[in-house]
Amino acid sequence: MKKFNLFLLMTLTALAGCQPKPGTEDLIRLHNSGIAAAFSSYGARLVQLEVAGKDRQPVNIVWGFDSADSYKRAAKDPYYGAIIGRYGNRIAKAQFTLDGNIYHLNANDHRNSLHGGKDGFNSKTWDIVAKSDSSVTFSYTSPDGEGGYPGKLAVKVTYTLSSDRSLHIVYEAKTDKPTVINLTNHAYWNLNGPGSGDILKHKLTIYAARYLPVDSTLIPLGKAAPVMGTPFDFNRPTAIGARINIANEQLKSGKGYDHNYVLDAHDKQMPVAEVTGDRSGISMQVYTDQPGLQFYSGNFMAGNNVMNGGHGDNFRNGFCLETQHFPDSPNEPAFPSPVLRPGETYRTTTVYRFTAGR
Ligand code: BGC
Repeated sequence: MKKFNLFLLMTLTALAGCQPKPGTEDLIRLHNSGIAAAFSSYGARLVQLEVAGKDRQPVNIVWGFDSADSYKRAAKDPYYGAIIGRYGNRIAKAQFTLDGNIYHLNANDHRNSLHGGKDGFNSKTWDIVAKSDSSVTFSYTSPDGEGGYPGKLAVKVTYTLSSDRSLHIVYEAKTDKPTVINLTNHAYWNLNGPGSGDILKHKLTIYAARYLPVDSTLIPLGKAAPVMGTPFDFNRPTAIGARINIANEQLKSGKGYDHNYVLDAHDKQMPVAEVTGDRSGISMQVYTDQPGLQFYSGNFMAGNNVMNGGHGDNFRNGFCLETQHFPDSPNEPAFPSPVLRPGETYRTTTVYRFTAGR
């Protein structure tokens, strides 16, 4: 497996005082003990993340490009590593009502609005407002009415690598008018390393007794359903591919897993999900304060892009675990509310913690 060795590159660049590789100049590089990562201000994206695999060598475990230009050129940008906003996931018929007003959004997925519409936060160039060796804060102010959403929204996202091999993501926002908000990160993980094939043998656990069944356009039907006895039950470590191809209406609608789980506990004390790469032995635990987790098994990856390390982004070669509010919650009064009002601060945290391969 060809690895892009971030540790080595950093050391060599520092020692030789040499110029960064063409195309890599806009990346922001962070490190802490046993973990290193790179980010782009285009979409405030996580571009690379390295931890040690079985043989103690660093393995990059996220899909990314090495420059903002490559993201801009990407075929149908699949949101690789980006911050998604204003509303991660789908809003049905691209509209919602808040305080009696109807807001019309940009419909970019069937009749629905996906990930903030066609010019979401993933396609904005964010400012860098703070930076240290292990942390970076990006900010973006979304004008009132952008994408059809009400209120001027000031957003900050801070990524921090901590010494227990974790990536912390803190999202903060304030608005000057009532609005809805659902920020998430859209990293595509492959814990064996991009280029190692599909993720179907990764073992996944999701601590959730219920998930949200969806219609053919991936909008929740409104009521959570038990996972017990279905291919959606990941309460015990199970290979992602073990049941992905069985005949099941729900699995077919998203060509695989593309569903939101109702998290049993989301108080940041206990992991909501855990995954292990079968080849690298690297494990990832996810902690969050958000009510939902979108598990997406890379069903629409189609080998359209050649990414870092020279690897094609082939079918199901990455998976996403996006911590978030439930899809379409602006239209579902029974779901936890995604409304943010002036004077309130939206603040949520998600942590991805890694264990080196063994
Ligand atoms: C959605 C998928 C979508 C993917 C890329 C995921 O968050 O759940 O349906 O295809 O993002 O857009």
